[in-house]
Amino acid sequence: MPELPEVETVRKGLEQAMIGRTLTEVILRRENLRFPFPEDFASRVIGSKIDSIRRRAKYLLIDLDDGQVILSHLGMSGRYTLFDAEKVNQFETNGDIDRSSRFGSATGFDGRHDHVEFRFDDGSTAVYTDPRRFGIMDLIDVGEETIHPLLESLGPEPFGDWNSKQLAQRLFKKTTSIKVALLDQRVVVGVGNIYACEALHRSGIHPQRQSKTLVRKDGKPTKKLDLLVDNVVQVLEKAVEAGGSSLNDFADVNGSLGYFGHQFQAYDREDQPCLKAGCGGTIERITQSGRSTFLCPRCQR
Ligand SMILES: [Zn+2]
Repeated sequence: MPELPEVETVRKGLEQAMIGRTLTEVILRRENLRFPFPEDFASRVIGSKIDSIRRRAKYLLIDLDDGQVILSHLGMSGRYTLFDAEKVNQFETNGDIDRSSRFGSATGFDGRHDHVEFRFDDGSTAVYTDPRRFGIMDLIDVGEETIHPLLESLGPEPFGDWNSKQLAQRLFKKTTSIKVALLDQRVVVGVGNIYACEALHRSGIHPQRQSKTLVRKDGKPTKKLDLLVDNVVQVLEKAVEAGGSSLNDFADVNGSLGYFGHQFQAYDREDQPCLKAGCGGTIERITQSGRSTFLCPRCQR
């Protein structure tokens, strides 16, 4: 599943390809992804120019010049593939373009999961492919993002003014385990399973530790919590730099693969030695809230 760094990578890729382009055609090959597409989606966005592309948590906000915003979430397996005019022409149209994608050899699955195509005035095309269809595409007015049901209860952005003082307030007296708390989008957005495991390992904090034990009695953060916030931001920043990791069937917007995966210290390293200098422990896998957690029981307390 794409996590925040991957979505940020996609945002940058779309930004390079779409800004200043005007939508000339939008092809929808289904009625819905996770939810139905907005009514008259294509006709409402055709003729609009892309002004900017923002990100809120794992949502992409594609700003149109008429004040509308295309809201896009990649779900479990969504991805965009970009084709410039020259590339587009290399793919032969065969049959009914409204029913079948011609980009299958590039997007995979014979194009069966190319549910949306955005075509632009310069002849370029962005194809949205989503085999599992947990993705979301909606159309809202600018400003509505703060009150949209999917976005209104989202917590702070890790790259914003998020800090350990804020986190301590959230976790005060909470008995939830710290890992489950980090995955809670009301606590902080965009910290997925991989990066939660990594940040906890780097901070020497046991994932099952009760959140409240990282907050002092006066509600202020402990040193450990300070360290955790620093490490969450750092692992996310590193991953953004590396172009996002590439797991399962996710590929970034250009179809190229990131490489942060090779740098995991805990995640997906069950039974392998802990990489922390002098630790000598072995990485274990446990399950928390139905998700795998990787930890070193020797140096994480
Ligand atoms: Zn260790």
